[in-house]
Amino acid sequence: MFQDTVDFIQATFRTTKFIPLHEPKFIGSEKKYLNECIDSTFVSSVGKFVDKFEEMIAKYTGAKYAVATSNGTSALHISLLLCGVESGDEVITQPLTFVATCNAIDYCNAKPIFVDVDRETTGLSSDALKEFLEENTTVKNDQCINIKTGKVIRACVPMHTFGHACQIDDIVEVCDKYHIAVVEDAAESLGSYYKGKHTGTFGKLGAISFNGNKIITSGGGGCIITDDEILAKKAKHITTTAKVPHKWEYTHDEIGYNYRMPNLNAALVVAQLENLDKVLENKQELANSYKYFFEDKEINFLKEPKDSRSNYWLNAVVLKDKNERDSFLEFTNTGGIMTRPIWTLMNKLEMFKDSQCGKLDNAQWLEERVVNIPSSVRL
Ligand SMILES: *Cc1c(COP(=O)(O)O)cnc(C)c1O
Repeated sequence: MFQDTVDFIQATFRTTKFIPLHEPKFIGSEKKYLNECIDSTFVSSVGKFVDKFEEMIAKYTGAKYAVATSNGTSALHISLLLCGVESGDEVITQPLTFVATCNAIDYCNAKPIFVDVDRETTGLSSDALKEFLEENTTVKNDQCINIKTGKVIRACVPMHTFGHACQIDDIVEVCDKYHIAVVEDAAESLGSYYKGKHTGTFGKLGAISFNGNKIITSGGGGCIITDDEILAKKAKHITTTAKVPHKWEYTHDEIGYNYRMPNLNAALVVAQLENLDKVLENKQELANSYKYFFEDKEINFLKEPKDSRSNYWLNAVVLKDKNERDSFLEFTNTGGIMTRPIWTLMNKLEMFKDSQCGKLDNAQWLEERVVNIPSSVRL
């Protein structure tokens, strides 16, 4: 019964063989830069490609500073630490996200609190956030105190799901009022904008991922973006073992992390960045053809929310109910087309099942219906 969808996707990708969800494409100077990097012997954590990568990301996103990291998860971890998140604190996020968001909160020995998403954006809802804070917190000495636990809610991590921007300006406004720092999980949203401004640049810090399945890749890698010079310097310092710069002395002035991006990985992603605009255009075209195809169908295509421009990293459809979703998954995967349901809600995972939650109606609704469909760049 989903045969027309299978036919359409096979025609779109011009193959009847297996179609993956998202695969990296290397169409530029990747091999050239990797060879250059190897010839230079600077294959590890210092090198010109790392510097170049940071410059390119700052320029592209419009953030004043960019700091390369080993992956998106470490970028989130450090961003939270730099907002002062410490043991016993609480951090608000959305239940509908990839597990890394919550893992990073746990690495700080903090606890997540789950607040609902919007159906339109599939990202954190500013209304649900406002309601949760009004009902559950009080502000004392410029700190947001959770009335139920007595703990400080130090930060909030909204996520731009599949590259669709959430209502980040409203979220930042609400958080400012409650003295809560915003760290944007922009892992999936390089090339996505909200009201003309790049995602990840609204909060105090933003974290981007360059994992192999993301819109462009360094093999593995991440980046912190911020406009705050002091935070940027601290980020560089603690992601590079907190070594005090000196010609020969090896001194470290605090516990640091080895969260550096190797120059080899930076070489790969610099080449990828040079083609980012082409990639975005290609993905926009694919999203448009999906949009037209699903227009008169029972299946809803997830479109970019208002006031925003999506990178359409992963295309997604919304099925009528969980039964339809399951039949769709079964039919497409059996037909050689990789499709995948959206993540299990974080509050249902063993590690986070005791977390405090707001009403999660929209997240629950989406969890039962959303499926990702093939989204690779077509050459
Ligand atoms: C991919 C991803 C991350 C983590 O990035 P890694 O580079 O894989 O560590 C974090 N949050 C979200 C929402 C992601 O999709």
